[in-house]
Amino acid sequence: EAKRQGKGRYLHFAEPMDLSIRRRSAIEAGLREALATEGQLEVYYQPLYSSRTRAMKGAEALVRWHHPSLGTVSPAIFVPIAESTNLIAPLGEWVMEEACRAAAAWPLRLLSVNVSAVQLRDPDFADKVFAILDRTGFDPHRLEVEVTETSFIENARHCRPNLQALRARGVKIALDDFGTGYSSLTHLQQFDVDRIKIDRSFVNAIQSADAGSPIIRAILDLADASGLDVTAEGVETQAQSEFLTQAGCDALQGYLLARPMPKEAIAALFADAAT
Ligand code: C2E
Ligand code: MG
Ligand code: MG
Ligand code: MG
Repeated sequence: EAKRQGKGRYLHFAEPMDLSIRRRSAIEAGLREALATEGQLEVYYQPLYSSRTRAMKGAEALVRWHHPSLGTVSPAIFVPIAESTNLIAPLGEWVMEEACRAAAAWPLRLLSVNVSAVQLRDPDFADKVFAILDRTGFDPHRLEVEVTETSFIENARHCRPNLQALRARGVKIALDDFGTGYSSLTHLQQFDVDRIKIDRSFVNAIQSADAGSPIIRAILDLADASGLDVTAEGVETQAQSEFLTQAGCDALQGYLLARPMPKEAIAALFADAAT
């Protein structure tokens, strides 16, 4: 089937391409609808723990979308679509406001919220975060934004003023998926960040506590020299947990310790701990 594009030009799509474009626009329309409706979007929380004491150090907010007919759609699918449309800003703000409102009542030290490179390019981004903090009464010192290093490098000029404004009010900055972007180690010193999150792919490669991972050791040495905290993400096995703890990684996050959970479930964890 031919599709008309502009004046007198036709683009011929092969069937799978056409399907994926239709699927993309269905997801885009569905997401627009979800943002205007109650109950389709939800925030899950995945705790992260001190490697040494096993005390909960914080939790990461992770968006979930319960589509009325498609079921639960993964953020790995709809976040990139939201980023390529104008939906990531309202989606990201919704997540941050919902999470700050919920976490304001919890004895949680740190709430981490993922922020897209597209949001960071908006010159008003920091002010939007401050407005959310004002509305929810959430203490900026308890908020951490997770940004990817790629977004950092590609948009340094635009995102730096936002990050500086956030840090000036006490908001923490974490570099997410660390190690997957280019020139990570060489650029680390020039980023104004508080924490790095070692990407799951490196953690996944740890076969045994003895063999460990030379790459992770190098990242931990560098973080130590730069005074940064480190979280390892995607910790699934006891061997990974042991190696990371021995090697001096501060915090662990992964299915071994806790899965992402609805707010009622994490609230119940706090209630249990208090009794
Ligand atoms: P991320 O920020 O790197 O989040 C970690 C992802 O790894 C989450 O997937 C989490 O559920 C998953 N995970 C945690 N522990 C384990 C483990 O032990 N094993 C495995 N295999 N996976 C684990 P999720 O929730 O599907 O989110 C995927 C990505 O979508 C996130 O990666 C983040 O980049 C993006 N995302 C999620 N929520 C938001 C949001 O509110 N805003 C933005 N901009 N992006 C978001
Ligand atoms: Mg993250
Ligand atoms: Mg990550
Ligand atoms: Mg990741």
